[in-house]
Amino acid sequence: MSYCIYLRKSRADAEAELSGEGETLARHEKALLSLAKKQKLSITQIYREIVSGETIAGRPAMQQLLFDVEQGKWQGVLVMEVERLGRGDTMEQGIILNAFKYSGTKIITPLKTYDPNNEFDEEYFEFSQFMSRREYKTILRRMQRGREESVKEGKYVGNIPPFGYKRVKLQNEKGFTLEIEPEEAAAVKLAFELYAYGEMQPDGNVREVGRPTIAKRFHEMGLKNRKGGTWATSSVTRMLQNPVYIGMVSWKRRPYRKTTEDGKIKKTRPVNENYLCVQGLHEPIVSEELWNIVQEKIKRSHTTPIVGKMQNPLSGLVRCSCCGNLMQRRPYLKTGQPASLICVTHGCPQVSSALYMVEERILAALAQWAEQHQTTWESTSAQNPFSAKEKMLQASLSAAQKELNELELQFDKTFEFLEKGIYTPEVFTKRNELLASRIAEVTEKIEETEKEARSLKSIQNEQTSLIPKIHTLLETYDSLSPAEQNKLLREVLDHVSYHKTTNGRWHNAPDNFEITLYPKISKNF
Ligand SMILES: [Zn+2]
Repeated sequence: MSYCIYLRKSRADAEAELSGEGETLARHEKALLSLAKKQKLSITQIYREIVSGETIAGRPAMQQLLFDVEQGKWQGVLVMEVERLGRGDTMEQGIILNAFKYSGTKIITPLKTYDPNNEFDEEYFEFSQFMSRREYKTILRRMQRGREESVKEGKYVGNIPPFGYKRVKLQNEKGFTLEIEPEEAAAVKLAFELYAYGEMQPDGNVREVGRPTIAKRFHEMGLKNRKGGTWATSSVTRMLQNPVYIGMVSWKRRPYRKTTEDGKIKKTRPVNENYLCVQGLHEPIVSEELWNIVQEKIKRSHTTPIVGKMQNPLSGLVRCSCCGNLMQRRPYLKTGQPASLICVTHGCPQVSSALYMVEERILAALAQWAEQHQTTWESTSAQNPFSAKEKMLQASLSAAQKELNELELQFDKTFEFLEKGIYTPEVFTKRNELLASRIAEVTEKIEETEKEARSLKSIQNEQTSLIPKIHTLLETYDSLSPAEQNKLLREVLDHVSYHKTTNGRWHNAPDNFEITLYPKISKNF
């Protein structure tokens, strides 16, 4: 990561220039470059504001800078004074400073470096706020500093003790520490051991025990979490990762982190890798060795991707009639509205429908198709409709084979004729070449005919098995999982084309769409 420079002329600069002060931006550039050199910062871009707009909208270089800052492109921005960044109204100042704050981008001026990751610099970012807020911040900061100091002394600063402990006041000094709650501590130890070593089965085999199982076990043991609720898998994970159980106290292990994206603020609580963690005053519940085994296991389980359950029975099957792309399932988790089938191609005019409607229609069409072909199929099994073509192929195959035999005989003869002096060497060469190329042609034809006959055979097999497959599908469909439904549908369908022009919501015709089935068999013809 690198740094950039932002240059902007103020109104005062413009006036100074008029009285012969020289080119401001060039001067600033020189000053900031030497600052970068002194601090050993690599500058890879310089944003120059040519126009002197007061609003962000009137400052194109600022717009670009803001965009890049939000993306986290820069470690820091060098600027002559902070005021050069934003001098507009409070609103705009807020937008600019928040972008720096939430992306953790430093502001470096010749006088001072402001680091938004450092809470002591935070007041600067709030300078446009009310005084009372600033005071609140100061108080909060003092408190936090006090707590950090307490952590460094091994005291427990949280209000709620972790499961397995109770919070007790320290004798003769300020602050709190933790004391083991025997019953809960036994459960904590059990959880660590189960997760690390698994559980012995009656047959003597050891079986792995996952975090959901541990949560379930806790529930069965009648254990409540600290909020009085049932243990969730995520709470078990947090417990297994908490260094408090090996006697440590930590500070800002999982701080709240805000990031801006498209102007919206998102809150996350990632584990801070460089958190402060020191030996606590309390007794550990598990050994460091056990704790480490558990951490390794959790890390490994995170790196193995969990294959999500397939939710869409029509996955990979339905193609958009407008653009030809596969249509996707779009769930509506918040509104509870049924999932729809949509075309995700940008700008495609295809109108979506409820997925279950498309699914029903496909099943109905399959049933109809099977019914229509039932008689054909029955007669097919009795008398082969491919027999004519098959016979023709067999006939041309044996004819070709016969021709090949002839040619090979003649080919052999050319040598004989040459030896007996019937052919001159010239005639021999000519005749020999001609026969050789003819043999190659016929051989190729035989291979092609054989291939065609083989594929005819497989089509026959497929078609004769397609009808029973559809019957099985229709009979079992409702009892299957989406993944199983998808598998059966794919066995009988190559794809389905979907077409809808009227928007059902406004025309009150949600099922006003057309589908065309392309059974598996069709592509072989
Ligand atoms: Zn489309």
